Amino acid sequence: MKITIIGTGYVGLVTGACLAELGNDVFCLDVDAKKIALLNSGGIPIHEPGLEEVVARNRAAGRLQFSTDVAASVAHGTLQFIAVGTPPDEDGSADLQYVLAAARNIGRHMTEFKVIVDKSTVPVGTADRVRAAVQEELDARGAAATFSVVSNPEFLKEGAAVEDFMRPDRIVIGYDRTPEGERAHGLMKKLYTPFNRNHERTFWMDVRSAEFTKYAANAMLATRISFMNELANLADQVGADIEAVRHGIGSDPRIGHSFLYAGAGYGGSCFPKDVQALERTARLYDQDLLILRAVEAVNDKQKLVLGQKVVKRFGEDLTGRHFAVWGLAFKPNTDDMREAPARVLLKQLLDAGASVAVYDPVAMPEAQRVLALDLDAAQLARVRFAGSPMDTLDAADALVIVTEWKAFRSPDFDLIKASLKQAVIFDGRNLFEPEVMAEAGFEYHGIGRSILTRS
Ligand code: NAD
Repeated sequence: MKITIIGTGYVGLVTGACLAELGNDVFCLDVDAKKIALLNSGGIPIHEPGLEEVVARNRAAGRLQFSTDVAASVAHGTLQFIAVGTPPDEDGSADLQYVLAAARNIGRHMTEFKVIVDKSTVPVGTADRVRAAVQEELDARGAAATFSVVSNPEFLKEGAAVEDFMRPDRIVIGYDRTPEGERAHGLMKKLYTPFNRNHERTFWMDVRSAEFTKYAANAMLATRISFMNELANLADQVGADIEAVRHGIGSDPRIGHSFLYAGAGYGGSCFPKDVQALERTARLYDQDLLILRAVEAVNDKQKLVLGQKVVKRFGEDLTGRHFAVWGLAFKPNTDDMREAPARVLLKQLLDAGASVAVYDPVAMPEAQRVLALDLDAAQLARVRFAGSPMDTLDAADALVIVTEWKAFRSPDFDLIKASLKQAVIFDGRNLFEPEVMAEAGFEYHGIGRSILTRS
């Protein structure tokens, strides 16, 4: 099938590459000419396992093209996927300017039936606004082409995006029960047939429910994280081990083991903005989502916990202190640093006068870019970007772990001990067992694990 993807970011590029992999003829559009030039020269703008190979294979096969040409992009696909960003507006609601600009472009150029697929995460009711924007453009030029707007939210996870797209848990599609909507339903069904070979994964519903489902999913996941983080802080106070508690509750099938890890707070481009946007949507209807407000507040506080533990151990004034920091991306297997807890931690340490040596397996270039925005020149001068995890440790007062990269899970503890000024580890992701660390001679501070570290 002929498909256009509007917005070639994380979601758009993965969607376009994976749909091309299944044999579709895909045209990826972006307004960012540098990004398109990079893709056309064989480069990849993001780190995502497996993506480079899929893109290269399908470009070579002529099934995947990248362009900034709007008119050509509209002419190409019967299915027009909108996958542009929906960042938070000043009041936290989703900023739809890019979605609506994409919709207007379609309306401005289309000459035949199109299915417009909202893949971006958009608030309930956005499909109506997309429909109105397209119709306005059609009316403005007296064109009579028909179209249907479908909601097909994306559930892929950064760091496993290709795998998630190719083997989705579910495909959610909302469509209208109109003649155009039924036509769109038929085309979407055909497009997704290869994903349903083993068993049916598609949930067909109305458009508003599909839009809502994406926010409900992210809000639920964020809630589990904040819930565990709040309990972890209490566990620290009362002398319980949150990891034991996690196993104890996760074995109940009604609760399950996933997404119950206490840590340094959630970040990234989705949970923080989607939780906020759902709260703002509720306010438009005079409803106060108390649970989600608390989820957000707990997460903001949680991002400070690791730094507070450092201050509690070394004092408010960290001048002359030096820390090794492992992990900068908001989670493993990505170079995404949007809303990353590491940014908050670094600001805390540097504000208190410390210097740091930092390392991340893939996010170093992105870290250099965002830290230049977060920090002033004097603070930036106290950041050393190290070449390896072990290269951070020399003369450090402690090691602070912020992201749970696999490469950090089995380090050479003897070498760490020999390199650090004192054997102190703050572990924002509970990678290690406190008893083992104590036996190895470390003073170990996890999140919610104080019972085993008290001595
Ligand atoms: P992104 O910022 O990585 O990519 C968006 C791209 O759209 C950018 O390259 C930008 O230049 C381009 N763009 C903006 N306006 C355009 C226009 N009018 N025409 C063409 N291109 C345009 O964003 P992302 O992370 O891919 O997220 C996209 C959407 O998908 C968001 O709504 C997000 O919430 C949602 N989502 C993201 C993820 C994720 O893990 N990143 C997962 C599921 C859903």
